[in-house]
Amino acid sequence: MNYRHAFHAGNHADVLKHWVLTRVLAHLQRKATPFRAIDTHAGLGFYDLTADEAGRTGEWHDGIGRLDAPFAEDVEALLSPYRAAVASVRARHGATVYPGSPALIREFLRPGDQGVFVELHPADGAVLHARYNQDARTKVLALDGWTALPALIPPKERRGLVLIDPPYEVPGEIERLGRELLKAVGKWATGTYLAWYPIKDAAAIDRLAATLDAALPRPALRLDLLIHRPDPARLSGSGLIVINPPWTLREEADIVLSALAERLAQGGYGAFRCAPLGPPA
Ligand code: SAM
Repeated sequence: MNYRHAFHAGNHADVLKHWVLTRVLAHLQRKATPFRAIDTHAGLGFYDLTADEAGRTGEWHDGIGRLDAPFAEDVEALLSPYRAAVASVRARHGATVYPGSPALIREFLRPGDQGVFVELHPADGAVLHARYNQDARTKVLALDGWTALPALIPPKERRGLVLIDPPYEVPGEIERLGRELLKAVGKWATGTYLAWYPIKDAAAIDRLAATLDAALPRPALRLDLLIHRPDPARLSGSGLIVINPPWTLREEADIVLSALAERLAQGGYGAFRCAPLGPPA
């Protein structure tokens, strides 16, 4: 386990993933009945952008660092749950912090809602445990996220989301993502699933999307954000499969991803895709 998210926190991939995550959390909050958010690969919870790790790569400068200037009004309206959650985490933990998924989820939990954060790395898991296991609303588990997932669903609340955000250090993890998503939807058909992937080998992502399009019993979206010209030798962007998305997300993603592709483009190239998968919504 060599991957440490502290080197990458706040980069373009986090901006995309965390915007979608906060959009789904805001949607879940619209109903009074409790929900559960399960994060299978949770990381540290939040990150100091002035720390050595973030400083060594400087990746956040081309991610959250480019979001200081406001966008057009319609984009800002859709970004507001993300911006508000980042601001709350900073008010709580310090102005130079960037929130990871557990810190963002924590901001949306009401009394009665639950966050479950799974992290296998012993050192990162210990930090996450110290940060979040004392709150009645959040629980930290030192487990393998892939094997924990089937045991954690369906949750007793019957409403909620699963974020699957592995480091893709192990060959075949993209294919595994497809298999595990189909199994999970078979166990809990109505949960919203957010599964992140890096875009390097674009053909592998197309195969994943084609498999899910043919086999998913529920509507889904493929949301890709490219910030470099496609090149199999490097990371050109990232994407998310969102199963059971809020019904407004496709239209919202068209607006926000278009703005992010322009703002986060590197070397003059930015592009995005919002495509439906599976049966029609
Ligand atoms: N979801 C986090 C966020 O958005 O802030 C970032 C997670 S990072 C991309 C992936 C995390 O998965 C790392 O912290 C890594 O230690 C952890 N990890 C790696 N293999 C794992 C496994 N099999 N089960 C659970 N966690 C794992």
